[in-house]
Amino acid sequence: MMQIFMPLNFLGFVYREMKGSLANIERMFDLLGRKPLVEDKPGAGRLAVTDGAIEFDDVHFHYHPERPILKGVSFRVEPRQKVAIVGSSGAGKSTLFKLLFRFYEVSGGAIRIDGQAIDSVTQSSLRRNIGVVPQDTVLFNTSIFENIRYGKVDADDEEVWRAIRLAHLDQFITRLPEGEQTLVGERGLKLSGGEKQRVAIARAILKHPPIMVFDEATSSLDSHSEQHILTALSEIAREQTTLVIAHRLSTVVDADKILVLDQGEIVEQGSHQQLLTKGGRYAALWRVQQQERSTD
Ligand code: ATP
Repeated sequence: MMQIFMPLNFLGFVYREMKGSLANIERMFDLLGRKPLVEDKPGAGRLAVTDGAIEFDDVHFHYHPERPILKGVSFRVEPRQKVAIVGSSGAGKSTLFKLLFRFYEVSGGAIRIDGQAIDSVTQSSLRRNIGVVPQDTVLFNTSIFENIRYGKVDADDEEVWRAIRLAHLDQFITRLPEGEQTLVGERGLKLSGGEKQRVAIARAILKHPPIMVFDEATSSLDSHSEQHILTALSEIAREQTTLVIAHRLSTVVDADKILVLDQGEIVEQGSHQQLLTKGGRYAALWRVQQQERSTD
């Protein structure tokens, strides 16, 4: 029974994980009942990820032709780099992620992974190579241990424990009433936003895709939880190419590159230090957030 149950449950997990992963993604899943917007091209090959380099090359995009959303976005993420995308609400950050997953076709330009245009490969091979840490992770009504194992259903216990340690969840778990067997989800223990994101990070560490996208929770986390998440995230970023949508700039200080997106255009890019020295949009945003933190 378990053998039948697990894959079905897992599919449910993947669906809900994807569904909750990016803002408005559920709208895309409405499309599941309709004709898909994006289809594999005849003869599409499998994406072969060797290094995990990502390239957006003059990408244009609109949901409706009268309203351009991305207006010639170009950037490169080198293998194992961590790149953060910041910008005001509606700037187009989630849209960049949706295009990377090829939920929509670009209106112009190209997105490439290790030199392969993503519209020339199968969508299943593309999505297999990209892991998501969503804003709000779905937990099943089972133990916290099994919830983490969903990242790789055939992982042995030692692998799961390793992921738990790397996601900095071990202390939290050992303090739970029944340790790793504690039930979570709707009918069990409710986890905080920060704890749920660490569960998602542990799953991602288990899945170990070469490319990772992280949609930082907008809800404010206390600085203790935030620090745990940052440390856990840095474990992923060390080995994998990581793209982060960041709301709190404290998340991006160590990023190799920060892209500042405004109304569908990259208006600044560089490291935290370079952007501070530049004294432009990012520096202004940084000052505001620093002031907010000091008055918290
Ligand atoms: P936030 O920080 O608030 O999540 P964002 O930078 O991620 O914002 P996007 O979600 O990429 O912004 O949205 C960019 C623009 O595209 C917004 O004006 C939004 O209203 C519009 N948009 C997003 N999804 C759709 C859609 N499915 N159909 C039509 N317009 C959309």
